[in-house]
Amino acid sequence: MSQGVMSTGEGMRIFPDVEACIDCGGCVVACKRTWDREIQNQRIDITTMAEGIAGPQGENAAKVDPLIAGENPGETSLPMQCYHCENAPCVSVCPTNALQKEEDGFVTVQDDLCVGCQYCLSGCPFGAPQFPDSNDGSAQLFGTGGIMDKCTGCRPRQEAGKGPACAEECATDAILVGSAGEISDELEKRGSGSFFNDQAMEIIFGEEDAQLFQDYNPDQ
Ligand code: SF4
Ligand code: SF4
Repeated sequence: MSQGVMSTGEGMRIFPDVEACIDCGGCVVACKRTWDREIQNQRIDITTMAEGIAGPQGENAAKVDPLIAGENPGETSLPMQCYHCENAPCVSVCPTNALQKEEDGFVTVQDDLCVGCQYCLSGCPFGAPQFPDSNDGSAQLFGTGGIMDKCTGCRPRQEAGKGPACAEECATDAILVGSAGEISDELEKRGSGSFFNDQAMEIIFGEEDAQLFQDYNPDQ
């Protein structure tokens, strides 16, 4: 297993280490190969900010310290997918209950309840909901986005004792999978920061577990 995969199954969380991501796209390829998604359907994508710009400490230097100091961190890439948030806004805004936060922690979508309203796309701060069928004839005819699709956390792989394909494939172990405690300990061991602000951390981990990352919080 990848060193980024510390535990799987019930209560697992997925979280990026922005200091480790090198924008190679290995996770994107692993996801597509595993789930055979259409070309336009990105269950995981790499977001790169300040491309080509060196941080105050040089290229590929620590990103989070300058960010905390209010400086441009320089080129920063992070894998964005569904983080299976503890306080998932997508679940709150879905009018048909197609989205559910399951007891084991996974956020799932029930295809036959989805009406393609795209409220979840507006509600998700991380761009996870995808609408690959939005250009299809029937979706256009009925004026919907088609059926929403997103990262499943590779739940079937996890049920078989494997890690998510993206995390297993990542050459730099930039996708961390485990409990909130395991992830915060691993980031601390690496000297990496959590990158997201307080509000985003509370959405992803819940108020209590977000406190585990408070060492990286500029306001505390
Ligand atoms: S808000 Fe976005 S990242 Fe969080 S569970 Fe919903 S789709 Fe996933
Ligand atoms: S597009 Fe589907 S999953 Fe998203 S909010 Fe609307 S009904 Fe719910």
